[in-house]
Amino acid sequence: MKAIVDADECTGCELCVQTCPDVFEMEDDIAVVKGDSVPGASEEDCRQAAEECPVECISIED
Ligand code: SF4
Repeated sequence: MKAIVDADECTGCELCVQTCPDVFEMEDDIAVVKGDSVPGASEEDCRQAAEECPVECISIED
């Protein structure tokens, strides 16, 4: 599974980092995805972060 943040849409609210710090981190006030793929143990939190993003700019590829 992969997660992608649309940097043009991200408002830098940090909600995804709080929900799933294993996958998301802040870089220059924008959320970025750590690594190439989402670790299996973090998939559920990652999906939750995508669902909760206020501007829906996180997409998931299975
Ligand atoms: S929750 Fe969405 S808008 Fe907020 S920092 Fe994460 S990707 Fe950006």
